[in-house]
Amino acid sequence: MRILIVGSGGREHALAWKCAASTRVGAVIVAPGNAGTAMEPKVQNAAVDAIDIDALIALARAERIDLTIIGPEAPLVAGIVDAFADAGLKCFGPRRNCAQLEGSKTFSKEFLRRHRIPSAAYRTFTRATFDAQYVERHATPIVVKASGLAAGKGVVIAASADEAIGAIQAMFGGEFGDAGHEVVIEEFLSGEEVSFIVMADGAHVLPLATSQDHKRLLDGDRGPNTGGMGAYSPAGIVTAAVHARIMREVIHPTVRALAADGMPYTGFLYAGLMIAADGTPNVLEFNCRLGDPETQPLIMRLQSDLTVLVEAALAGRLDELQAQWDPRTALGVVMAAAGYPGRVQTGDSIAGLAGAAALPGKIFHGGTRAFGQLP
Ligand code: AMP
Repeated sequence: MRILIVGSGGREHALAWKCAASTRVGAVIVAPGNAGTAMEPKVQNAAVDAIDIDALIALARAERIDLTIIGPEAPLVAGIVDAFADAGLKCFGPRRNCAQLEGSKTFSKEFLRRHRIPSAAYRTFTRATFDAQYVERHATPIVVKASGLAAGKGVVIAASADEAIGAIQAMFGGEFGDAGHEVVIEEFLSGEEVSFIVMADGAHVLPLATSQDHKRLLDGDRGPNTGGMGAYSPAGIVTAAVHARIMREVIHPTVRALAADGMPYTGFLYAGLMIAADGTPNVLEFNCRLGDPETQPLIMRLQSDLTVLVEAALAGRLDELQAQWDPRTALGVVMAAAGYPGRVQTGDSIAGLAGAAALPGKIFHGGTRAFGQLP
């Protein structure tokens, strides 16, 4: 079969590499991919942007693609799965209505409250409805979130009411563009943070192995928050008891409620959770796709054929199979460009890839480009 992977990060490199390893797969196209995907056997890049849905449909037709897997959230929130379905193309990911779980924090908070799934108490405001007294009445720290997609940057944990009001006004003022026209103000939760990723087929759920990412830039959990400086799997904090509570109190109720609301969820579903001292798994956020960098160590451990799992999900048969995982721990470390997570320096060259490829482990690229002669 022929596979299309949409995206250009380390997550998509890992997905492409894993799909290409399947004996069922003849070719993998990555749109737009990166220098790392271009170097993989059976894999080639296509210069089509991950958000250009019409061009991706044309590419899938021209390349006679049998199955498309979407990496990043932006095309999912924009409705790529609906468009592929309308074009008669098989595409794995949630439809636009379900992707609102990530695309709109207002939507996901209302959904969680309506279905009594544990999460922080909150209110949403627009500039017109904002009431500073609401913030002043509440304990600090208090959490301020831009409702829309803000590439993981739209969350401020404010130590004082003044700081919260400043952050809210900056969001209304356009700091995150349209994403900040609506803000969610929520109670600060303490506990242990965990990410929990499953595959869903509309009715059934297949939990992936557990994983944990690390967001602070520097060693020892210091420095600013980033998109993730590394991840490992399994995550020891998710004991069998915690796992059972997350499935029972968050994952199953979410998938059941979405189906009951007339919008069955198919795709990867990622819950960011704060496990309270009493073990309650509070939802901090939903993502409608795999995490990056969590995907990379997960894929290193996945022994099952990913294309078989995805096809089973698209056929509504996830209850019929299990995923096999290498019991050994996998650990991924991100090497970022200078300046990250601020203004990054682009165009620097990466040396030593051939030597590193000879070592145990695997290098996945994110946003790299080949120029000149490869070593
Ligand atoms: P989010 O994008 O909503 O997951 O928020 C990004 C990060 O902010 C999370 O990974 C948490 O570390 C932190 N965070 C978000 N919401 C809360 C909350 N209600 N209480 C404490 N920390 C939070």
